[in-house]
Amino acid sequence: MINGAIPLYPKRWTRHPTRQFYYATRREMLCKGPLGVRDQAMLPERSTNNITQQGDGRNPALVTILLDGYRYDYLEKAKELDLTGFGAILDNGVKADYLIPTYPTESYPNYYSLMTGLYCESHGMIGNYMYDEIHNTSFLIGTNPEQNASYFWDDGDPLWITAKRQGLKSVMHYWPGCEVEIRGLRPDYCAPYNGVPNKTMMEIAIDRTVEELSNGVAYAGIYYEASDKKGHIYGPDSPVILNVTREVDDLLLQLHNKLEDNNLIDSTNIMIFSDHGMVAIDPLQRVLNVSVNMENIERSFKSSIYSQIWPKENMTSKVYDELIALKDTLGHFNVYLKADLPERWHLKNHYRVAPIVLLPDEGYIIQLPDAKVNTNLGGHGYDNNVRDMRATFIISGPGVKKKSTHKAISAVELYQLMCHILNIDASPHNGTWANVKGMLTQASGAHTFLFCNTMTLTMIIWTTMEFLYHYL
Ligand SMILES: [Zn+2]
Repeated sequence: MINGAIPLYPKRWTRHPTRQFYYATRREMLCKGPLGVRDQAMLPERSTNNITQQGDGRNPALVTILLDGYRYDYLEKAKELDLTGFGAILDNGVKADYLIPTYPTESYPNYYSLMTGLYCESHGMIGNYMYDEIHNTSFLIGTNPEQNASYFWDDGDPLWITAKRQGLKSVMHYWPGCEVEIRGLRPDYCAPYNGVPNKTMMEIAIDRTVEELSNGVAYAGIYYEASDKKGHIYGPDSPVILNVTREVDDLLLQLHNKLEDNNLIDSTNIMIFSDHGMVAIDPLQRVLNVSVNMENIERSFKSSIYSQIWPKENMTSKVYDELIALKDTLGHFNVYLKADLPERWHLKNHYRVAPIVLLPDEGYIIQLPDAKVNTNLGGHGYDNNVRDMRATFIISGPGVKKKSTHKAISAVELYQLMCHILNIDASPHNGTWANVKGMLTQASGAHTFLFCNTMTLTMIIWTTMEFLYHYL
């Protein structure tokens, strides 16, 4: 197992009475002594005073806006536009060079990595389409009832559930999964996803978010999908993407102004991020006709990029050999047995991963027999080291540096930052605090360091005094 792939569960952590996960109280997590990288990844950082105690005494709040498929360079592409909404946020915040999605670079896997801080093999959301052999059910992206089954979600502890468990209120708009009971809990309010949210729906979400923040809600999540939808249909280089940026900018300006009107701007942190980027595709030129014999295949999810195959019983070797022969002929795609999936993807150690996975080179699409023909001009699902798979990350708010940039961060780093902002204990995650603390004005973790060292110093003085009293 490579470092950080799956959270470790130290013995002092307590097994949840009914579920296969562990938790630790804040007291148990403090004063652990020197920390290894892996330990640091599990230590939820606590807010420092510049975040928790704001001018008007309000508790810190967080609004996250998830822009589906909003590639890392879309904002730069729109630099000629007068982007007042983005500008207001960037003036008070930090923009990362880009965000590295987890693999597979699909939506659900990354929605969940962003909100749980876990790699896919740990949170179990291993594709937009998944087959669960234990329950003999399939999870299909969209509004299918199977996706409300808790077992598809329970391996992770998303922010809204972490917050709920610790007494904070959350409201979620169109956020995939907010309607699902996870580890026995739900957010305080969820407007479920029912298809691509339009501009009117987004405005309703912003109004409701600001109203609920005024009423003491700590966390609000809003999901925006048009960026992904239009990227698929028109391609990432289409002028239509500029219109998407313009629309998002208008919504951000509305949010900013309403927060200001309600005297919430100084206590509200805003995070804008996306789940993956988008690669331009030519569906007429770069199609790989992978004409494998489907009679030996029990089940397949024929996404034209990340493709999962379940051979019939005792047929894995035969199907694999046939696919390798096709790869040698066609080129431009890879065939992986589950055990051979790259370690850096942190994917293979989950039971839902298919026995065989296919992945084309950037810009190519796989056409399996009897699969729907792909006519999109944009796609994702490629290796997460492909440049155009990079996503966007911006953060602003009290305690965050102003007008700054930051090196690239991974999708698994956000959860710890969000827990820090809300001043709650994070569940075990794969993030590393050192990778994000530079976004804050005050080096965080100093609180823990100071507390631990003050306690240590007190113990030394006390022991010394006792020694002097008894023996001198
Ligand atoms: Zn998409």
